[in-house]
Amino acid sequence: MQYMSTRGNVSGVGFIDAFLMGLATDGGLLVPQQIPTVSAETLKAWSKLSYQELTLAILDLYTNNEIPADDLKKLVADSYSTFRHPEVTPVTKLKDKLYLLELFHGPTFAFKDIALQFMGQLYTYVARTRNLKINILGATSGDTGASSIEGVRGKEGINICILHPHGKVSKVQELQMTTVTEDNVLNLSVHGNFDDCQRIIKDLFADLDFKSKNNLCAINSINIVRIIAQTVYYFYAYFRVQEQEAGGAEQVSFSVPSGNFGDIFAGYLAKRMGLPVDRLIVATNANNILERFVDTGVYKPDNFRMTHSPSMDIQVASNFERYLYYVLGEDTAAIETLMNAFRSEGNLSVNEETLAKVRSEFGAYGVDNDECLDTIKRFESANGYILDPHSACGVAAAEQRGTGGVIVSLATAHPAKFDEAVQLTGIKQTFPAQIEALFNKPQSFKIVAGETSIIASELVEFFGSRG
Ligand SMILES: *Cc1c(COP(=O)(O)O)cnc(C)c1O
Repeated sequence: MQYMSTRGNVSGVGFIDAFLMGLATDGGLLVPQQIPTVSAETLKAWSKLSYQELTLAILDLYTNNEIPADDLKKLVADSYSTFRHPEVTPVTKLKDKLYLLELFHGPTFAFKDIALQFMGQLYTYVARTRNLKINILGATSGDTGASSIEGVRGKEGINICILHPHGKVSKVQELQMTTVTEDNVLNLSVHGNFDDCQRIIKDLFADLDFKSKNNLCAINSINIVRIIAQTVYYFYAYFRVQEQEAGGAEQVSFSVPSGNFGDIFAGYLAKRMGLPVDRLIVATNANNILERFVDTGVYKPDNFRMTHSPSMDIQVASNFERYLYYVLGEDTAAIETLMNAFRSEGNLSVNEETLAKVRSEFGAYGVDNDECLDTIKRFESANGYILDPHSACGVAAAEQRGTGGVIVSLATAHPAKFDEAVQLTGIKQTFPAQIEALFNKPQSFKIVAGETSIIASELVEFFGSRG
């Protein structure tokens, strides 16, 4: 398998090189040159695999044997050894035809751990085997930062700098990132919102000279490896539903709490690989650019809003470009034109025919703050199950946009990470010990202005000082 850019000027890139490249050097996003497909027979065989075995089976389609099988097996085993649940991503039934895929059993209690624990292991492996110095740069709305820092703290040959929007992440997210004591970690708390942080790092990655001089690598979902690792749990959940649903389910829909469109794009990729997915439901909060796109065909950022689900407070969804590439028939020239229009005019739109195609695959629903809290309360009193505010958006969207068939809603975080919202419902929760312990630790971060040049000099200083 080789990788190419959605904008057509980069191709023939191997797996590890794609992993190291992050953003494609022409400003586009890397995608597989052909999506591998799996037969019904293979699906049947995969249905009996453990989470780790399934990960290896899927990676095998994407890695070109660039990593010896025994090494890859160890990387995967180590990635998921830190999870608190033996199934890694268990599926539970919430009510008739509605299942919850719990993705928060990793070390930082959010779904980002699933891909980022693996990427942390892979960066460490690549740094060692290729004798490289790797400087990871990422932007976070809270969970990516915590998870990627956890994945590489103290690792030889690796440094990491994470930008988070100052005062716009939850207390637990902030503590998870900033109480880490290893000196290969730098937290920059940026004046601005997540979109500002993401724009700054995209600008820095697009400056190829800066990128190569500073050995910059990406941890955000602009990295294709993150997407590939996230396809695994769509397959896994589909198989578990077949076991739990009387008579099975021919097709399954997924409702996905969305911000950067990375997680749901992984679901789309799984569907293109041959998983019998009915509908993909984009669940958003009041930052509903994706819902408006599905409604109107126009993709246009609106005013940024702070909500109870801060990890989804995102206007410009970077992975959206990957989906556009596929829905426009893999036409790289069309993507280049559309993305240039987006850059100069601040919006882009697709024609009626394309929009009809989008609507045949995706539903979308924006959940406002009241509905989010109401959903948390409703399920707590009906089942005693406390949903975190992101997962609650997923469940509310599943209820509003379902097709009548079986739906799996993705639970992207543990409620203890977002107690600010849970408290507003009047529900009292007990914190897991790992989270409770964070409150007594000193924090370390630097507050900086949201300007690319200022961040660039912080990076030069930090990465430079680390040799
Ligand atoms: C990152 C995140 C999301 C959004 O995922 P995307 O891949 O950015 O669409 C949803 N919920 C939680 C808890 C997250 O951390």
